[in-house]
Amino acid sequence: MMPAEEIVGNAVAKQIRELSLRLEESVRATAQARKELSELQCSAALLVRMVGKPGTCRWCNADVYWVIHQYGPHRKPNGQPTEAPYDPTGINHWATCPLAKEHRHGG
Ligand SMILES: [Zn+2]
Repeated sequence: MMPAEEIVGNAVAKQIRELSLRLEESVRATAQARKELSELQCSAALLVRMVGKPGTCRWCNADVYWVIHQYGPHRKPNGQPTEAPYDPTGINHWATCPLAKEHRHGG
């Protein structure tokens, strides 16, 4: 018969081992996700440079690429496609523009 302390100790040790395995798994998954994210960012940056029209943001003057959005929530009332600014990194400039927030509504 094992003393109660030893049984509890074994259960705790088992839990720690399981948690540590799960943590290891998460770390691996995070590394994989980071790698995929960085590949996606490279692709987005390439694509934006290929199809975008170089220009500047009218609010903060940053270099951006204007990309035509054929579909999306921000179509003009006449149904015409709109253009959206993208950073050279491939991220939508409205997400990174330091001045976009104050101009987004009624800008
Ligand atoms: Zn800007």
